[in-house]
Amino acid sequence: CSSGRSTERPVLIGIYGGTFDPLHYGHLRVAEELIDTICFDQFFFVPAGEPRLRDSPGASKHHRVRMVSLSIQNNTRFSMDDRETKRSGVSTTVSTLQEYHQEYDGKAVLCFVIGADAFVKIHCWHHWRELFQLCHLIIVERPGCIRVSDSTQLPQKILSECASRWTTDPRDLVRHFSGMIYTADTTLLDISATQIRSLVKTGKSIRYLLPDITLDYIKTHNLYSGKNEFR
Ligand code: ATP
Ligand code: MG
Repeated sequence: CSSGRSTERPVLIGIYGGTFDPLHYGHLRVAEELIDTICFDQFFFVPAGEPRLRDSPGASKHHRVRMVSLSIQNNTRFSMDDRETKRSGVSTTVSTLQEYHQEYDGKAVLCFVIGADAFVKIHCWHHWRELFQLCHLIIVERPGCIRVSDSTQLPQKILSECASRWTTDPRDLVRHFSGMIYTADTTLLDISATQIRSLVKTGKSIRYLLPDITLDYIKTHNLYSGKNEFR
């Protein structure tokens, strides 16, 4: 852990938000590698309730939460926080982060993990500039997506907001309360939930893209096949 542990440093919390429809090895491997690099005291997967910026998920909140729980059950470094799925209406990351600060009495440093594909659209998120007051962003690159750290292809709004925030030094995450953008050098795994849903729908194998236990859950509950209207 290169960010180091000391009694004086704040509680460091990793928060990985997503629809997780379903959670797959792309998410899990990234989280595992980040925890090795950054000494998180806790690391949460936070499944979104009703996403604001995308179509309704293929599986219900209940199933997505169950799939996250099953996928992480053997890893003591991972936790799940289902608060967003319990909220009525759309979920916003800003309100989730504000709740964390209240719960930790303003003493925690929050690191929100986001893939490059989501980061390039961050200026569409609700009150997106507030994120920099509430958390650090940890950006993980995704195959087929622009490399955000050295890209001038980012929308102008993002470029100007983020200009002085970039870092590749994990120690910056404990030196500052919020507002840094750490670009992580994690393994690029070309796996997406869209691909998994489409494979299921066309009757193809999804083995080795996600944990077997999640695969069994998808089969048992007939998720993503298009045959189960109720889900
Ligand atoms: P979908 O295809 O339905 O959008 P997804 O695979 O992108 O699913 P999400 O739940 O949308 O999964 O992703 C949650 C977060 O995880 C996002 O920030 C996304 O960029 C990131 N992410 C998803 N898959 C990967 C991957 N293979 N590598 C790195 N980050 C990923
Ligand atoms: Mg996605």
